[in-house]
Amino acid sequence: MLIFNFIIGSCFGSFISLLCFRFINKESIVFPGSHCEKCYHQIPPYDLIPILSFITLKGKCRYCHQKISKVSFTNEIFLGFVTAVHSTFNHPVFILIIFFLTFLSTWDMLKNEMPLSGLILFAALCLLNNSHDLKFTILLCGIYIIWQLLGPV
Ligand SMILES: [Zn+2]
Repeated sequence: MLIFNFIIGSCFGSFISLLCFRFINKESIVFPGSHCEKCYHQIPPYDLIPILSFITLKGKCRYCHQKISKVSFTNEIFLGFVTAVHSTFNHPVFILIIFFLTFLSTWDMLKNEMPLSGLILFAALCLLNNSHDLKFTILLCGIYIIWQLLGPV
């Protein structure tokens, strides 16, 4: 179950990275399909496997050998790990908050700004959580601070 959760989490990490890159570049999240930012070559499905593709391609585009941003790779590992561990927390909104924090952190790393609408949505998500559990709040803050300390990757 942990491995299954890790795989699902890493897929969400990949998708959240895609959302950030596409929103920042003002592109559709559907079209065009995944492509290299430099040579615009369409990336085949076997090069879209979270974590494994980055490792097998050594962080470079298969066609033009341009370095691929590590942001997506770190998001895949981070959310894979958090989602795997999440099954032991059994907190329904926890994983949504972590996904949202990952989105905001990625946006911040790529653009050096924090979208106000994102912060408002995040506050609403926290209110929905309706948790006064101190351990949960400390854990959430800790994860966010560590993520921020990693800086732009
Ligand atoms: Zn390329």
